[in-house]
Amino acid sequence: MSDQYVKVQVEQMKSFGEDAEKEGVDTEEQVPGSSPSASVSPDHPTSTDASSTSLPCKQTGKSRSKPGREDKRHTSDVASQGSVVSSEKNLNRLGYERTLQVKGTGKILQRKSEPNGNYVTIHTSKNIEEMRREEGFKLAKKRRPVTVDTSKAKTSLEALKISIKQLKWKEFPLGRRTACDIYWHGVSFHDNENIVSGQVNKFPGMIEMLRKINLSRAVRTMQELFPEEYDFYPRSWILPEEYQQFTTQIHMVKEKDATVNPTFIVKPDGGSQGDGIYLIRDPSDLKLMTGSQAKQGVVQEYIQKPLLIDKLKFDIRLYVLIKSLEPLEIYIAKEGLTRFCTELYQEPSQKNLSHVFMHLTNYSLNVHSGNFVHSDSQSTGSKRTLSSVLYRLAAKGVDIKRVWSDIIALVIKTVIAVVPELRVYYQADIPPGKPGPTCFQILGFDILLMKNLKPVLLEVNSNPSMRIEHEQEVAPGVFEYVPSPVDEEVKVGVIRDTLRLMDPGHKKPTVPQQRAGGFEQGEEIPMEEETQEKSQDETGTLPSLCLKQVYPKYSKQFNYLRLVERIAALFIRFLGVKGNMRLGPTAFRTFIRTCKLSGSNFTMASVDILYIDITRRWSGATPDSREAGMGLQAFVEAFFYLAARRFKSLALREQVVSLLELCESQLGPQSGVEERRSLSCSRALPRTVKTQAPCLANPQLSSPAPLRRAASQDYRHQRFKPRSLRANVEN
Ligand code: ADP
Repeated sequence: MSDQYVKVQVEQMKSFGEDAEKEGVDTEEQVPGSSPSASVSPDHPTSTDASSTSLPCKQTGKSRSKPGREDKRHTSDVASQGSVVSSEKNLNRLGYERTLQVKGTGKILQRKSEPNGNYVTIHTSKNIEEMRREEGFKLAKKRRPVTVDTSKAKTSLEALKISIKQLKWKEFPLGRRTACDIYWHGVSFHDNENIVSGQVNKFPGMIEMLRKINLSRAVRTMQELFPEEYDFYPRSWILPEEYQQFTTQIHMVKEKDATVNPTFIVKPDGGSQGDGIYLIRDPSDLKLMTGSQAKQGVVQEYIQKPLLIDKLKFDIRLYVLIKSLEPLEIYIAKEGLTRFCTELYQEPSQKNLSHVFMHLTNYSLNVHSGNFVHSDSQSTGSKRTLSSVLYRLAAKGVDIKRVWSDIIALVIKTVIAVVPELRVYYQADIPPGKPGPTCFQILGFDILLMKNLKPVLLEVNSNPSMRIEHEQEVAPGVFEYVPSPVDEEVKVGVIRDTLRLMDPGHKKPTVPQQRAGGFEQGEEIPMEEETQEKSQDETGTLPSLCLKQVYPKYSKQFNYLRLVERIAALFIRFLGVKGNMRLGPTAFRTFIRTCKLSGSNFTMASVDILYIDITRRWSGATPDSREAGMGLQAFVEAFFYLAARRFKSLALREQVVSLLELCESQLGPQSGVEERRSLSCSRALPRTVKTQAPCLANPQLSSPAPLRRAASQDYRHQRFKPRSLRANVEN
């Protein structure tokens, strides 16, 4: 070990100490947020390459940011010797320690800093893993426990309490006067308005975005741009505004082929747990009014041939964690639930349309059927684990890897569809620069497998039930909540591992975009990656994470879909006033001018007319509007119109990409869209656009989506209304 090496290491550590001080990092007390993991050897791979000879994580960058010649020489020395791997631990201002692992020998050299910076202790015999574990234990003891405010947790409280206990964190069931690290809300971001730091388990706007109408709209926009990629969502019409289109299309289909007799499912916009849902075969059976008020909802193509198990229809409840919006990070729980109907399935007929226990898989409905089977086993009964069902399918020869890969793709594409509007809500509630918490959220995806194994998205729940008890009829007509082992197994794992991922002491650097991606467009996503998500458990007492990162891991395959997000980035840029969600006429004009979209054949007067026309159609029926003006969905319409006008000869997707590139080039790199371009586009151009997504069950049915596309040639003929909002309930 050369003196020079020791000297350089001392310099590096000093440099870290200074930098930590500069940044206000408390190097004496390991507080959450100070990223203790960054300085703990158990979290660092025992890398044997030269790159790992420098200090890990934060301090690496810092010490490298001002390398002296000596430092550089040293690095190459080490690289050439290939002999030393170092890791930092407990960097205290006074008496910090450092370990050096001698490559290939398993020797550990440990140093306590002396005034002269020399190594004073040498362990040669300790197994590295053993050392790491010990260090982990020490650190776990030293770290202040993560604090969780559970006062608003509602029905997730039981599962949350168990999770916190398992993690040895600290619960504040009545809230806390000082800030907590994590706030767990049962319903919405706004359950507690006074949070200015930490992390909240809900995103602003998520409830609104995932209502049936808004989700349908968001997916439809994507279907217009990427019909093939978004063919996993059943054809849907928004009520009441698309009633006419719906009836016209059904009549046309029936006229063309009298043997075709499709079935439709009608769902109220704010509904959950199967409330208000019914099946129809004729548009005249639609119940459009409640008293004098038009009912808001969607009518959707009914999937007539679902995959059956034991001759019963079932659906999958998959838990998905949105860990962050910017950058987008998505995790999927490897374990989920399946909910079974309680009456043998038959394809819909006029006779059985009202048999809810045959057609609707909702637990909340079927639990009231006399046939509901409560079971402590995970593979029998009316509620089973997803793995038990996949196992059963695999035993029958089903390619479950393919199914799983399709499910992951469905989840990522759906999230990509809702992210643009979520970003608008986010910046309105937590504008950049304003103190506020960061957000994460667990979503419940309801997925049906068709007989041909294609997964279909039914809906996404912003508040999936996290109850770990189920209702049981203890006496005729008397229901009680009793523990449900299947729910506990799945839901506690999801909550606990979400908390582990959100642990402020474990902020891992996000996978850099250029390294992320892994799989090319069209490639199958493997069921299990070789590189499993590492357990983030320092003490080794917890199981490995049940949540698997799918984004940015597979970003390469899906980034080209993020076009609307780029439109949203433009929209947000021109919103101006903090907290706004709508563009005013002046801002819209500024957008047109800045991006140089007006000219002799598109005057500013035409711009104003465009703004007024589109905004008028979207306003009025938007009870959520915080202010007047043009919302994102209206802006997207305007953008499509402008794109179609400017690049007439191209297909829609190419029109949109071309206009985006034009706008982004006018705005320059500081717009932040440059970065987004690398995220989101280059693949969009080569593919030809089909105007209709293939219909899942009835190919004769066409989506209302192309109508909007056609209308983008002349916005005046568009007929659509903006979203509506109602309070959501936990289901
Ligand atoms: P809710 O929020 O009220 O539960 P869902 O959209 O989840 O509404 O629908 C309730 C149930 O109806 C689903 O769990 C599923 O069993 C059935 N279902 C919903 N949409 C369809 C569809 N398009 N085709 C077949 N079955 C459907």
